[in-house]
Amino acid sequence: MRVADLLPRELERFEREHPRSRELASRASGSLLSGVPMPWMIRWPGAFPVFAAEAEGARFRDVDGHEYVDFCLGDTAAMTGHSPEPTARALAEQARRGITLMLPSEDAIWVGEELARRFGLPRWQFALTATDANRFAIRLARELTKRPKILVFNWCYHGTVDETFATLEDGSVTSREGNVGAPVPLAETTRVVEWNDAEALEAELARGDVACVLAEPALTNIGIVLAEPGFHDALRAATRRHGTLLIIDETHTICAGPGGYTGAYGLEPDLLTIGKPIAGGVPAAAYGFSPEVAGRLEELMPRDERADVGGIGGTVAANVLSLAATRATLAEVLTDEAFERMIALGERFEAGVAEAIERHDLPWHVTRLGCRVEYLFRPERPRNGSEAAAGGDAELDRFIHLYALNRGILLTPFHNMALMSPATTEADVDLHTAVFDEAAAELSSPAAA
Ligand code: PMP
Repeated sequence: MRVADLLPRELERFEREHPRSRELASRASGSLLSGVPMPWMIRWPGAFPVFAAEAEGARFRDVDGHEYVDFCLGDTAAMTGHSPEPTARALAEQARRGITLMLPSEDAIWVGEELARRFGLPRWQFALTATDANRFAIRLARELTKRPKILVFNWCYHGTVDETFATLEDGSVTSREGNVGAPVPLAETTRVVEWNDAEALEAELARGDVACVLAEPALTNIGIVLAEPGFHDALRAATRRHGTLLIIDETHTICAGPGGYTGAYGLEPDLLTIGKPIAGGVPAAAYGFSPEVAGRLEELMPRDERADVGGIGGTVAANVLSLAATRATLAEVLTDEAFERMIALGERFEAGVAEAIERHDLPWHVTRLGCRVEYLFRPERPRNGSEAAAGGDAELDRFIHLYALNRGILLTPFHNMALMSPATTEADVDLHTAVFDEAAAELSSPAAA
């Protein structure tokens, strides 16, 4: 393969075709730290980021007038498609009737009831980001169990939650590379085991100091690493046996169906967290409780002057604008029928990629969870985060992202990941298949070797 030979050609094309983005990138360096509004926006494959002009449905246009099929979809926050009509309508209507009040609205009840129907947990609270939902869930778990530590799986990601930036190095817990300003050594707060390793999980929980396990039901932030048969049963049994609460983070795995992985596979978490797409991209998140946990928390809930200083909540959390958007999104956009179509598109995407991999005899594979599809540049499916991380190929990742971008396709940064929205079409999927096939052909052509 000659990624190194092909990359300069793609970089040159990107620069040539994006003069306005280049101009804005240069201006941005005057007022924005490192020229971007948020550090993750540095990580695009060209020499500078593409500046967006407008987005609708599964597409967006950049400031140079190029139109793209968007399979990144705001890294899941826009899994609804951009600016879905029911959400935009609810936002416009609510924005004139109050934005934030510190008072509950009827929409909050409707959303609580709908989340209960989808995920099977009866009581809910709201936050603005999945990060916050996870932070609050962890605090509550510590409060209930009076235990100091949490347990996460190696190479997990749950937002900017201090305790979760832990990794295993030669069997010891340490700060993950790149973790900025860790408040305390990670081994003080966190135990880490490999995904799918029920034996290690049992051993760590047996130490008796773990308040909660925080887990995605399949890893989705280091490629997709699915649970092996029996692993979820083992996880649930071990957490129950050791008095550890199980928090399932459905922020990405909502891709598995209307009730996420929990709804699709009948999981029984003690707490469940979700953010990103539930309000069509408007900041909103939720966390729910099993009957037992809800009962214990309601006994603890302060009804006096301590209610606002407990470290849980936020002035604009559960604001009426976010909740109006969440209601419209759940009622009319991320519906059961929409998921059926999105998952069928995911299957079509997966089949297209698998055929191209086979046709060009490449040592790669593709994995899917519902309407989320990801390809990894290694032959075997990883069993855990470490195997997935070891299989990464940063140069090839960059090449594929840039190759796709130059041909009107946006993949999710940090991953070779694609997400289907209710607005995505078969033609969008087939465009990706054709471009992926073309890239695979170039990479595997004998002349290129
Ligand atoms: N949980 C999971 C599983 C995530 O993937 C992410 C973000 N990628 C988060 C939580 C945090 O979401 P946010 O950045 O919106 O707070």
